[in-house]
Amino acid sequence: MLQKLKTRYQRWRVSRHPIPDRLWSAALRAAPYTRGLDKRARDKLRELATLFLLDKRFTTAHDLELTDDMRVVVAVKACIPVLELGLDYYDNFKGIVLYPGDFRVQERHVDEAGVVHEEARELCGQSLGQGPIVLSWDTLRNERAQDGQDLVIHECAHKLDILNGDADGFPPLHSGSTASWVRAFQYAYDALCREVDAGRDTRIDPYASADAAEFFAVASETFFTRPDILFDDFPEVYRQLAGFYRQDPYPLMRQA
Ligand SMILES: [Zn+2]
Repeated sequence: MLQKLKTRYQRWRVSRHPIPDRLWSAALRAAPYTRGLDKRARDKLRELATLFLLDKRFTTAHDLELTDDMRVVVAVKACIPVLELGLDYYDNFKGIVLYPGDFRVQERHVDEAGVVHEEARELCGQSLGQGPIVLSWDTLRNERAQDGQDLVIHECAHKLDILNGDADGFPPLHSGSTASWVRAFQYAYDALCREVDAGRDTRIDPYASADAAEFFAVASETFFTRPDILFDDFPEVYRQLAGFYRQDPYPLMRQA
């Protein structure tokens, strides 16, 4: 009963604030991997993106002018990973901060000897614990999905990863054996690290070799934007992600 009321309320909210057709079409062009979605999935994506726009708070830094085009592009990309999971999976953040370009952060870590290190780093995206998702608009605008890149999906994957604790590449799985997830990801991660250490080119972004959390985020990016690459190179990881996201983008891509 409660769920029915909630669904009805959400439909009412969506109908009161529809995404204009022009903005919707532009956002789909910015996310070409949506081409394979059927009408049911596209309608659902539009509904979720509308609710995302209503629920999340967008701000900008350094005088970047926030436009509706920017908001809709981010919303559509962000809703791809939760298309079959639901927006509740994003309850752990409220804010989206857009910077015009890369931004500098001061990072602090303590090494094994207890020595504190501080370093400034230039980032194009960041997901802060319970805080906002921070994005470089310049990166977002210029990235190419055909190269397996999608900054919004990447940062959203980090948010899903921390739903059950630390960023460790291990999001809350639905059911079944977690052992097969660990096996698939450990095998793929080790294989990628070997390639990177040997100086060989890899088809998925070598940044995935940074740690288990980055591997999960990059694998998620590749899963949605270039599922063919992930399917060919790491079929077990593809299978695990298809189970977690409840989506199977590779056959959809072949039909598009
Ligand atoms: Zn990352």
